[in-house]
Amino acid sequence: MARRKYVVGNWKMHGVSADILEISGIASAAAESSNVDVALCLPATLIERAVRSVSGFSFGGQDVHQEAKGAHTGCVSAPMLLDAGASLTIVGHSERRAGQCETDQQVRAKAESALGAGLDVILCIGESLEVREAGQALSTVQAQLDASLPHGEGAAAGVPAKFAIAYEPMWAIGTGKVASTADIREMHSALRERLVAAYGDAGNEVRILYGGSVSASNASEIFAVDDVDGALVGGASLTAEKFVPIVIAAA
Ligand code: PEP
Repeated sequence: MARRKYVVGNWKMHGVSADILEISGIASAAAESSNVDVALCLPATLIERAVRSVSGFSFGGQDVHQEAKGAHTGCVSAPMLLDAGASLTIVGHSERRAGQCETDQQVRAKAESALGAGLDVILCIGESLEVREAGQALSTVQAQLDASLPHGEGAAAGVPAKFAIAYEPMWAIGTGKVASTADIREMHSALRERLVAAYGDAGNEVRILYGGSVSASNASEIFAVDDVDGALVGGASLTAEKFVPIVIAAA
């Protein structure tokens, strides 16, 4: 089953309007790799500005609340992201699971809300170093996937075309340490089995991205691994100089 490669930048808490030039450089280069889907997940404050300034490119949020509106100070809902011009959102990033104590159940509700509203979703999962060293990475991440996977109407609307998984070992995020290709292959293959168990044949169409210190120097090797359908990229997505070679490696 041929799945299009998907390379997504996660700008985290970086980016102000002065960075639009960088975004526009990334979008122009991405337009030349027509066989790769490319997107940038920006701070919510920058999305509308980016959408107005750069056409023909996909922008997303980095989180979404599970409710459409209400008394949730500081939160952003799926309809709000859509209104700003976003077409996708990340949910369940480990920095939110750890920093905001998000549970699998909340992540699942966020994914269902976003898909139901019409956003594409990138659902993040991944183990801590402690779990990996205890030999429990596979069972922990599989359980996380099972508990976070969207079900119901939102999922039916979104699987498989609008939905991707990002496997991101927590110890590889922002550290310069990358999981071995053997470990990535083993994890992605186990996740593929789980997706097929959950969604039947449609599970074969869900893209599984790797995330964790992806850079120009390791991207080709990672993209060559079975069942790696692209990458979620943090630090190296902040400049065209670092991000564009990763997009080209996926093409
Ligand atoms: C991320 O934030 O999802 C990530 C993978 O970060 P980095 O590429 O910087 O490790």
